[in-house]
This record gives sequence, C-alpha cells and structure tokens, in this order.
Amino acid sequence: MTALLEVEGLSKRFTGRRSFADMLARRPAPVVRALEDVSLDIRRGETLGIVGESGCGKSTLARCLVHLHNADAGTIRLDGLPMEGMDSAAREKFSRRVQMVFQDPYGSLNPRMTVGQTLAEVLAVHRIVPPAQIAARVDELLDLVHLPRDAAARYPYEFSGGQRQRIGIARALAMQPDVIIADEPVSALDVSVQAQVVNLFLELQSRLGLTLVFITHDLRLVRHLTHRVAVMYLGRIVELGPTEQLFDAPRHPYTQALLRAVPQLTPGRRSDEAAVMGELPSPLNPPTGCAFHPRCPLAQARCSVERPEMREVGWPVACHFA
Ligand code: SF4
Repeated sequence: MTALLEVEGLSKRFTGRRSFADMLARRPAPVVRALEDVSLDIRRGETLGIVGESGCGKSTLARCLVHLHNADAGTIRLDGLPMEGMDSAAREKFSRRVQMVFQDPYGSLNPRMTVGQTLAEVLAVHRIVPPAQIAARVDELLDLVHLPRDAAARYPYEFSGGQRQRIGIARALAMQPDVIIADEPVSALDVSVQAQVVNLFLELQSRLGLTLVFITHDLRLVRHLTHRVAVMYLGRIVELGPTEQLFDAPRHPYTQALLRAVPQLTPGRRSDEAAVMGELPSPLNPPTGCAFHPRCPLAQARCSVERPEMREVGWPVACHFA
C-alpha cells in the first residue's frame, strides 16, 4: 500500500495562562508540548489505530491532520503534496479530502437545522454536487449510514447517540473524503451500539475505499478494526507496527504495559494488577531522555539522559533496549 497521508516532524505546543504567582515571580507562561517530532505515513485503504493514555497527544495529532490546529513545525503531505505553501483553493481541496468524525457529534450539529438541511448545506457550500442533485445525494448519504430517508426532516435531538454518530459520519462522507479521522467515535456509546458503528466504519471502508485513522483508548477495538497501530506516549510515537504482530509481541515496554492493562487480551492477568506504573508525567515538564523512564521497569542509567530514536526492530520502536 502506498502512503496517502504523510506526517513528518510534526510538533505542536500550547501556551497556557500565567498564574498570578507566575506573574509576580516573572515566570514565563507554561508551555505544553502536545506533539514532539511526530512522523508517520498513513497508507491508502488501511485503517491505522492511534492509541495511548489520555493526554498523550492523540487528539492533537488528529486536529493537526484536519487543520483544526496549525502545527508549529513539520510537514503534512497528501498524495506527496505538502500542505504548506498551498493556495487557498488547494487547501480547501486538501481539507475536503481529509474529514473528521468527532466523539460527540451532537456538539458539532446545529440543533436548529434538520439533518437534511445540515447535509444539504455541506453539499451546497462546498459545491460537491449541482444544486439540482442535492436532495438525491442527501438520500444517498442517509442510505450509506443506514438511516431512514425520513431522518432528513428531523432534528438532531430526535436521535439516539448511535444515530447521531451516523449523522456525523454522513456529514463527513458528504465531502467525498479519501481519509476519515475518527477521534474516539464510539467511546460515548453503549457497548451494543459501539459494535454497530464500528461495523458501519468497516462496511464504508470496503464500499468506498476509505482510509481510516481510528483514535481510541480501547485496545480491543484497535485489534478488531485496524491494520497497523501507532502507540503514543507524551506527544511522541514510541511504536508503530502491524496490529496482529504488535499485539502478539509488543516491543516497547509502554506498549507491553498497555496491553497488560486489558485483562481480555492477557488471559490469567488479574484486573487489579497495576499495568502501567505511576501517573503520566505532566507534558508541561516531561522527563529527560526517554520520557517513559520514570515508569519503565526496564529503565537503565542511559534512559534518563538519552532520548531513544525510532529504529527498526521488526517495525519502528523508540526504545534503547527493545
Ligand atoms: Fe524503558 Fe529505557 Fe526503553 Fe525508555 S528507552 S522504554 S526507559 S528501556
């Protein structure tokens, strides 16, 4: 599979507010390093999972990919063309081709517009189809996500959480994207509904040839759904490999701990066993060297001073001793 979307050296920092004490002490505003030098390729037609604890940078990466955040450094390329330097028409085309599905579609749906109006607006504003074809295309979009056509006349509050997520997916599909970035798209849904929405993603991928990026903390879902998985820790990718092999033989100590934390993936493991020791360090002040060293059971002296670069150990892993 060839790379459709490439990310190279992406970094993103957020500057926080200075507290009154900071101002008195003339301390600078705190800086959160949300992404540090992230590189990965997303291959045409694949499903890539991005996993890690809350605060590891998954959602920031997703938002950079759809330009909801501007990265401070690095390059994003689609079909080999870098986003930087694009004129506004090329940027709009880029944005159309890479769409996002959010965890809470309700928050991003206009409660005063019917579903049909919401979808029609996307089709009209972005001139996806001629005006005379908009109504028919709205019907097609509802068919694609298995909602009844009369849903077009109803308002978002009239739908369940799972149905609203289908509306969010239909809205993303209205742009005729090549890539969908789904940020925790089922974590707010009941377990039975989660399976239906996940199956819808799989069905749409095979019908439409979509490339999917699935951001989640649910490792069982990642195993079921993805071809490859990227593991993030404190703003960096620490392991990126084929899903089945990575789940069978994780190389990075952090990945090993994450997988041990899911009892269903590790028969015999007690659910009260601490899988990842300690708290995630603050991204305001990340540890030196390997950022995982304060929690790593295999850490040695070198780990606290020298940051491990990605190297091939069957697949790319950032650990001195993988
Ligand atoms: Fe652990 Fe050292 Fe590897 Fe980091 S580099 S994961 S601290 S062994």
